[in-house]
Amino acid sequence: MIVTVAGKPVELVLVRKRIKRMHLRTDGEKLLVSCPYGVSEAEVLYFVKASEAWIIKAIARQQTREEINREGAAGSELYWLGEPKRIRYVPANRDRLVITEREAIFYLKEKTEERITKAFRKTAAEELLRMAERERAAWDERICLAYGLPLPEIRVRHMISRWGVCHIRTRQIVLSTRLIHYPPQGFSYVLLHEYVHFLVPDHSRNFYAIVAKHMPDYKEKMRVLKQVS
Ligand SMILES: [Zn+2]
Repeated sequence: MIVTVAGKPVELVLVRKRIKRMHLRTDGEKLLVSCPYGVSEAEVLYFVKASEAWIIKAIARQQTREEINREGAAGSELYWLGEPKRIRYVPANRDRLVITEREAIFYLKEKTEERITKAFRKTAAEELLRMAERERAAWDERICLAYGLPLPEIRVRHMISRWGVCHIRTRQIVLSTRLIHYPPQGFSYVLLHEYVHFLVPDHSRNFYAIVAKHMPDYKEKMRVLKQVS
């Protein structure tokens, strides 16, 4: 079904479910509506019309998020530690990405999406590991050594649904390459968050109390990962 939002046609995907109320979300392009059985199409359209202001904002937010998370294969800019960098491609013998004050320069054997993504993730992982090396000493001491726990191994890989993972038994912290797009405060928060999981595995009040003890402004830092404008 195609509906009109802010004067533009938008695809609406309707799913009927055993729910009590209608729900609306967007992936930045389509509208995804779930509604109870028995609700008429007219009612759905009325609901969409009534939610128009929200939809316009949600689509814009989702699109900004996608832009921020671009790895260099699309668009003319990419975000590196919260700063937009102009993308430039240069033919070369070896694939690599060099970040300067204003630019993200991809040196590539061939300009393919695969090579761009690979170069991006490699450089992002290297930078994030350097940042982790700089910041981990405090948490190694105050969280691990203070409680007689072994020090973790820190790794970086591409993850979409999570910023970081803490494998308690194997003493491993895995961070997402996507952290490189956001201001470094976001990274600092996620690193501490994962360390605190060695003390408290869940996200209980106690967990956040420990986070706050070590990083009183953690909520502000956390916010940069949600910030979209
Ligand atoms: Zn967690």
